[in-house]
This record gives sequence, structure tokens and C-alpha cells, in this order.
Amino acid sequence: MIERVITRRNGRYCILRITGRERQRLEAHLFQRYPDREWGTFFRFGFRRAPWGIALSYVEALWPKAGELNEESGITTFESDYTLRAFRMVERRDIALGVAHSHPRGGGTFPSELDDDMDAYFAEELSAYSAGMPYCSLILQRSGASSFTFTGRVFDRGVWLPVREMLTVGDTLGRERAEDELCILQSKNGTATADRESTTARLASVFGAAAQRRLAATTVGVIGCSGTGSPAIHVLARGGVGRFVLVDPERLSASNLERVHGSTSDDVFAAEPPYKVDVMWRMIRVINPTAEVIVLKVNALDERALDELIRCDLVLGCVDTQHARVLMSDLAKHYLIPSIDLGVLMEGNAGRITSQIGEITQYTPELPCACCCGRIDFLTVNRELMDATEREQRIIAAQEAADRGEDAHQYWAGEAPQLHTVGYLTTMLGSLAAGYAEGWLTGAFEMPHSCMQFDIGQPRFGFVAVPRQQRANCRCQDHVGWADQAAAFRNISVSDRWRAEVAHH
Ligand SMILES: [Zn+2]
Ligand SMILES: [Zn+2]
Repeated sequence: MIERVITRRNGRYCILRITGRERQRLEAHLFQRYPDREWGTFFRFGFRRAPWGIALSYVEALWPKAGELNEESGITTFESDYTLRAFRMVERRDIALGVAHSHPRGGGTFPSELDDDMDAYFAEELSAYSAGMPYCSLILQRSGASSFTFTGRVFDRGVWLPVREMLTVGDTLGRERAEDELCILQSKNGTATADRESTTARLASVFGAAAQRRLAATTVGVIGCSGTGSPAIHVLARGGVGRFVLVDPERLSASNLERVHGSTSDDVFAAEPPYKVDVMWRMIRVINPTAEVIVLKVNALDERALDELIRCDLVLGCVDTQHARVLMSDLAKHYLIPSIDLGVLMEGNAGRITSQIGEITQYTPELPCACCCGRIDFLTVNRELMDATEREQRIIAAQEAADRGEDAHQYWAGEAPQLHTVGYLTTMLGSLAAGYAEGWLTGAFEMPHSCMQFDIGQPRFGFVAVPRQQRANCRCQDHVGWADQAAAFRNISVSDRWRAEVAHH
């Protein structure tokens, strides 16, 4: 029996992601006996353990049926029927189970002694029934004076970890600190934030001071730090975004000087040019010395990238590969990580540019996935993710087929065509996406279409609002929020050999 609930404060911690829609339903349920009486529910969640702690993603509530919560009592009391139903559910061992309950309006969200008893009991029972999955307990409250507050804790592998933040993924992207964390922050800092001459005063006058604080508390992930990634980072750093996670395995090359913001001629002509992420780090820190920048010199499919991307409010996809596009779509579905993906295409002949297309696509837990839209060519994905050994074998097989007079295409379709893009187009698209990111984070405005395409050389920019429809045979709505427990349902997987190859970077 776990006798006491002691939450560790100085080490690993948890974050909880939830969609705006599920959060609304959960609050409506929990606050239905307001102002004085509590209410509760079991809920299901997916999770990922990372070096810094655990990311939880809320999947759905296991709503109480009539009589499963004690209606006489003002506090939340689970009847044994409900508890047994929950235990049976967690015995499936697909995803984990937790408890959420409200405290009366205006009451704090600090656990009572009864809450401690309940959590000690559920933590022990549920981790036994689930064979070691974490257990999560949340307390929510809403009132006019203190508005919304919450606390949470997670029991995992014998220790209690605090839920530090709740990230809500909806029309606006929310990030809220737990009530106990706020108390710690306030006692540390005296007042909430130091008054310093604001460098983003102009932005604040349009977006409001709350929006400015929102951006300062934001972590933006950027996959790809070249043509579109670097201007997006540049704009977001000047916009006051406080934290960045940058993912790119490549070093600069001479041709990058034309479009990579922050790069210098010393960089690109150095005997060993710097990594792109390091150049971004330097650019951000010159603009905002207090910004925190995490650099990852790995492919976005590397597990180490996911460990950090999962802490981001929003991810920008700036690599223009098919596999990264599928990855972002999967991350939105399975981990509730929202993203904006960018694509640029320039075509031309005989010294004339015939098309200059920019494309912006939003991925969220609710929107149809990348495969629904029929825009993913899995032959290209496979080619992008082929390890060197297989690539060689296929090129040889194709050559032999050609020698026999057979179709070589089935073995090797050739290298991906090199897209030639130019700085003005990539900078325009990257900074536009940064604007949409700021709008989404602050709630100031939305993208007019979740996927749009335009050609700057065409009348009226040749604008197309790309339709997105849920494809009937696509399973992408089935495992929303399942996190690592959805691994078998990913649209993208890589071979161990490929993993080993990229690990050398
Ligand atoms: Zn309570
Ligand atoms: Zn789909």
C-alpha cells in the first residue's frame, strides 16, 4: 500500500495535452454541480516517457453512468461499480487511465487528505491492473475571481511527478501553469515578471499585453532550418517567442547564403561550415539573449527529436520532404502536437520562371491527416527513408534490369528532383507562417484555410483553398492522443539500419 503521496518537485515532471473540444466537454461535466459541489470522471490518456519527464495526451472520458458517483455527497465519491468498470478498461493495457475531479468554485485545486487517500489507492490498483502504466489525477476549478486553475500529479514507476502545464490545442493554442507551480514561481520572483523596457511594444499594441506574455511563454519547434525555417525563426525571435526547439542534421553549404537568415559568408566558406541549428542559435541569441534554444542535429524522425518536439506549443515543418509531412500529420493525431507545414516549388525553363508556388498546411488532431488528402506519395517517402545499403542494392538491381531490357523503374525511380528555390520566395513563406503561428498562439487571428496554395507569378496569385476531406477508409481518427501507444498505427516507420545511419550524424 502506498501510504503517502509525496510529489517530487525538483526533477522530472509531466505536461498534459488536451484538445479544445475535449477540454470543453470535461469542464462542462466537472462543473455541472457548481458552485458548491464537486463532480468527477475517469479518463483515458496516451503517454510518452522522455528524459525530462512524461507527456500525457488526453484521449477521452469514461463518463460515469447514473449511480456510479455518489450523488448525495458534495465531494467526489467513486462507487465500486464505476471503479470496477475502470479497472476492467485498464486491463486492456492499450492506454492509461486517470481521474479528474473538480473543486468547488473559488476553492483551490490543492489535493485534500481524502484526495491523497483516493490517489494512493488508485495509483496502486491501476498500475497493477495496467501492468505499470502511469496513473494521472487532475483537479480543476473555475471561478470569476481566480478564473481557471488546476493541479495534477502522475504516479509512474513508483514516484509521483507534478503536472506542470496543460497545453490546449484548439482554435487558440493554450499553455497554462498548474496552480501549485504558480505559487512556487511567485515566491521565487516576488512579483510575476520583472518590468523591463519592452522590445516588442509595437507587437503588443496590436496583439495586447497578454499576447506578448503568451509568446514569451511559448516553445516553437522548427523542423528544418534552411530556406523557410530560418526566416520563420528570425520573425518569431523578434516577436518575442521565448523558447525554440530546432531540428536539422545538416551543415551550411555555400548555396545557403542566398536564403538562410543568420548565415554569413564566413560561415559558408569555412573549412567546416557550422551546423544550421547552431547558426539559428546564434541568430536568436543576438536578438533575444534570454531565449532558450534547444538544438538537435538529427533527422526529425529520430526519437530524440520527438522527446523535445512533444514539449512544443506548435511545430513548423520547413523541410519540404514527404516523410516530414507524414510525420507532422502523425504527431498532430497521436501526440496532439499542432503544426504548420510549408512547401515551396519553383519551376521554369529557358531563363523564365513559370511557377512560384507556396503552400501552407495546418495539421491538428481534428483535421484530416496528410494521407486523407491524397497528397502523400509513399514511393517518394520510401525513397527518402531508404538506408544506404538498400539504396545501393536497388540501383544495382535497376541497372541489371535495364541491361536485360526490362523495366528498371520498379527497382529504382531515380533521385528526388532537386527543387531550386530562391530567397525571396522562401523568406516570404517562412515569415508568413510565423505570422500564422503568432495568430494561432495568441488567438488574434486564424489561417483563412487549413490548406492553401498560391503562385506569386499568377493573376490574383492563382489562389487555391485546397479541400480537405476525411477519407472513409483512413483510420486516422481512431487513435487520436494515443501517443507512444499508437506506435503500431503510425503512417511512417523507419528501418533499424536507417536509424543506425542517422545516429551517426
Ligand atoms: Zn479534491
Ligand atoms: Zn487520414
